[in-house]
Amino acid sequence: MTRPVADLERVLVVTAHPDDVDFGASASIAAWTAAGIEVSYCIVTFGDAGGFDETPREQMAALREAEQRAAAKVVGVTDVTFLGHPDGRVYVTHELRRDITRQIRRVRPQRVLTQSPQRNWQRIAPSHPDHLAVGEAALCAVYPDARNPFAHPELLAEEGLAAWTVPEVWLMGGPQPDHYVDVTDTFDRKVEALRAHVSQTAHLGDGLETMLRTWHAANAHNAGLPDGRLAEAYQIVSTA
Ligand SMILES: [Zn+2]
Repeated sequence: MTRPVADLERVLVVTAHPDDVDFGASASIAAWTAAGIEVSYCIVTFGDAGGFDETPREQMAALREAEQRAAAKVVGVTDVTFLGHPDGRVYVTHELRRDITRQIRRVRPQRVLTQSPQRNWQRIAPSHPDHLAVGEAALCAVYPDARNPFAHPELLAEEGLAAWTVPEVWLMGGPQPDHYVDVTDTFDRKVEALRAHVSQTAHLGDGLETMLRTWHAANAHNAGLPDGRLAEAYQIVSTA
């Protein structure tokens, strides 16, 4: 089992849709930002193919961007970048690898937190094809692209973005979690952040918190934490 890096200063989160980071990791992130760690978000799409209400489709991208920025603020994150790839049609392309590499070289994180590229056969929702593609593209950007000065040479030549080696990747939603963060103390912030995604969670009402408590208590149980604790689950990959 891989241990988390010491001396953590900056974290870059890479996800497919607005709300993915809040379902997967926002309680951990609330604790990190409270500890003075800078966290940046890179969201690959605007989530314009999601939602449950009558909002006209052409308004959905702007709505979901605003929701994600509000949710980020709840957990202490203000640096949020949207790559604008089309929702529901995310593939591991050269362009996506370059776009994520650009954010890695700009933020220079010690940790990238992204979605597992491995299908989870226990629960189908984390394995949305956009999530699998973003996880794979983010790992390709961590190794080898971001650290290789000869990959995407225009990033260095035109934007001055030098090579950067990310020592550690945290994967969420995958089939093999091996690291749990006790988030009992920041769980309420997670619920508040998810409520900021009104178009995605308003229809759940109070059921949202009940669902989250059940799910995070199960994580805590798997982690061997005492009854009453809540946890988020990750797989840590050493990429140094
Ligand atoms: Zn998603």
